[in-house]
Amino acid sequence: MNKSVQEKICEISKKLLTHGLNHGATGNVSVRIDNDFYITPSGIATEWMEAKDVVKCSLLIDEEEVSRMTKKPSSEWHFHQQVYQTRSDVNAIVHTHSPYASAISVLRKNIPAFHYMIALFGGSEVRCSAYEIFGSRELSQEIIKTLGPLKACLIANHGAVLVSNDLENAFYLAQELEHLAHQYLELLKIGSFTLLSEDEMTEVLLKFKSYGPSSQAQD
Ligand SMILES: [Zn+2]
Repeated sequence: MNKSVQEKICEISKKLLTHGLNHGATGNVSVRIDNDFYITPSGIATEWMEAKDVVKCSLLIDEEEVSRMTKKPSSEWHFHQQVYQTRSDVNAIVHTHSPYASAISVLRKNIPAFHYMIALFGGSEVRCSAYEIFGSRELSQEIIKTLGPLKACLIANHGAVLVSNDLENAFYLAQELEHLAHQYLELLKIGSFTLLSEDEMTEVLLKFKSYGPSSQAQD
């Protein structure tokens, strides 16, 4: 039997927990279907979350409507809504507080092309946003600006956002970003390393386009 979108969101949220990419009630997950998005609830520890707790929101939902809801969406619903409104190619979003990506977000550094797999996120770097308080419209606008057309960004002093057309792929991107963030943090400790050039990254991006990187492992 096919799983419902609520079941899939629950499953991925728990996978984020077991893979150490989120903990407690941190992070959130959503999926867009037509004119609605389904998002993890506010205030329920992921460990105890059930499919029935996932909240369905209209893409046009506003603060007043949210204030009247008994079952509230994640406090970060603003940026999920705005990403879906501005990116027609995105149908799934994963937000993490994973340790290494979060650590780099505190350094407020972009992750440059130190490894060719950075191209997985659609460009030659993963950028870090300016700081805005969690759950705000201002943070949402910062995320939209920093993300641009790419599939990942860091949020200053907070964590990371991964976007994809597919939920499994968004989870895969979260795993890859955390691995790369770990490596980059180690390199920062050493202090000297060689970045790939723009030309080298352009070549990788082109190869990825024809090679079609998916949720499968890369060589
Ligand atoms: Zn967060």
